Amino acid sequence: MMAPMDFPMYIGGRRVKSETMLPVELPFDGSLVATVYRGGARHAGEAVAAAVKAAPVLREMTREERSAILRRVHQAMLERRDALAHAICSESGKPIREARVEAERAAYTVMFSSEEAHRLVGEVVPMDAEQAGNGRLAMTVREPLGVIACITPVNFPLNLAMHKIGPALAAGNTVVHKPASTTPVSGIMMAEIFEECGLPAGGLNVITGPGGEIGDALVRHPEVAMVSFTGSPEVGLRTRSLAGMKRVALELGGNAAVIVDRDANLDEAAARCVAGGFAHSGQVCISVQRIYVDSGVRAEFQERVVEGTRKLAMGHPKEPSTDISSLITVSEAERVESWVGEAVDRGARVLTGGKRTRAAIEPTVLADVPEDCRCSQREVFGPVINVNSYESLDDAIAWVNRSDYGLQAGIYTRDIGRAFHAAHRIHAGGVMINEVPQYRVDQMPYGGVKMSGSGREGPKYAVEEMTEPKLIVWKG
Ligand code: NAP
Repeated sequence: MMAPMDFPMYIGGRRVKSETMLPVELPFDGSLVATVYRGGARHAGEAVAAAVKAAPVLREMTREERSAILRRVHQAMLERRDALAHAICSESGKPIREARVEAERAAYTVMFSSEEAHRLVGEVVPMDAEQAGNGRLAMTVREPLGVIACITPVNFPLNLAMHKIGPALAAGNTVVHKPASTTPVSGIMMAEIFEECGLPAGGLNVITGPGGEIGDALVRHPEVAMVSFTGSPEVGLRTRSLAGMKRVALELGGNAAVIVDRDANLDEAAARCVAGGFAHSGQVCISVQRIYVDSGVRAEFQERVVEGTRKLAMGHPKEPSTDISSLITVSEAERVESWVGEAVDRGARVLTGGKRTRAAIEPTVLADVPEDCRCSQREVFGPVINVNSYESLDDAIAWVNRSDYGLQAGIYTRDIGRAFHAAHRIHAGGVMINEVPQYRVDQMPYGGVKMSGSGREGPKYAVEEMTEPKLIVWKG
């Protein structure tokens, strides 16, 4: 286990401590893994001031200078992927195998960002398409916004931070990063790596402490140009309501659904649903939660899902053989347990799992969860999937869409006509054909509709949101 280490905040290139230390605990057993410091509104103000001071420096750097810093960071992350993976595993309780994947993905998110620094382009505007534009030459150039507040969640503490910080710096902005209070360590480690790789002081500032206080201070701050937020819909809504004229990107939750049609490859669909429902104990915004399977193949499919689920190994997150560890806190596990209880009281059947030990919940497969139960309607954010059947594909599509969320959805079928029939009618940010909604690679556009948020991540798309297209018109 990682020795308990001290991680001060990082403001304007300085390590900053406050009077109050906060423990960071391994969620699985509550053991102390690190200490951080409780920052507050004052630290948020200092971090923004440092970022404002550094903004002209980043803005004036060439694309290649910014790209080169990000390339060095990519390399340093690969060299330190073990330490980063252990930090992720310790702070979040994510099984070490998955933490290694996250560390590697995060390094590639930074590499994709480095490439986008080279690709920041505007366009030539065809001014003489109108008589009044005759004799003018016009172009747009993409300019950085200034200071971007990046607020990140518990479940992918490193990669989701890099999805904001990488594109923000590639585009010439400066950043104040506020990681989740339970998972601040990997974010602070990154500040050091960026410094070593040549990022000017103030380019990236990391502050820790309660989201209510620091988050609000950042979101209201007049010198913050954009808030890029990933987290729960409740805090996302609050962020938008407080942000005024600032640009806001919101990556929020979901209750992702997948359709398994009558001619689907059931072995593959079942195996992927198990993987996509239980990775990181279901604490993934696109975790498979609702499965709608054609009634003609339901029994065979369900049997495979239950069989696959029972093979998952529960245990300590540092054990390489562990598939399922704990949720982020005991209270989160208690919440999930109570939601399962509600579904069962209302007539759902537990096909496997359902029990809780401290912060860990067994991987759980429910059948026939009534539509108005929280396990169906809300985001479970735990290792619970529910299987329901349908008679017609259009009914299944209607159920997928009867949700407040719309991040990603999936359909398994060999019939290309039915696949695109569904893809065109499902209201979500992305539809996966013959893949689960939990599928993501880091360069693709990613984001939601409805309560799942607005804006798209993936470095190419985030860079667009983090720049302003300025128009320059020249009359010769
Ligand atoms: P959360 O409770 O909303 O917290 C997210 C971040 O917001 C944390 O850094 C938190 O700080 C901060 N925060 C809390 N109150 C705030 C306020 N008033 N103003 C500004 N920031 C504030 O969410 P979480 O539990 O960390 O993450 C789980 C949620 O994130 C799920 O809903 C999941 O689906 C969603 N998610 C979405 C995506 C996506 O890309 N769409 C990806 C991953 C996760 P503290 O920790 O200090 O409270």
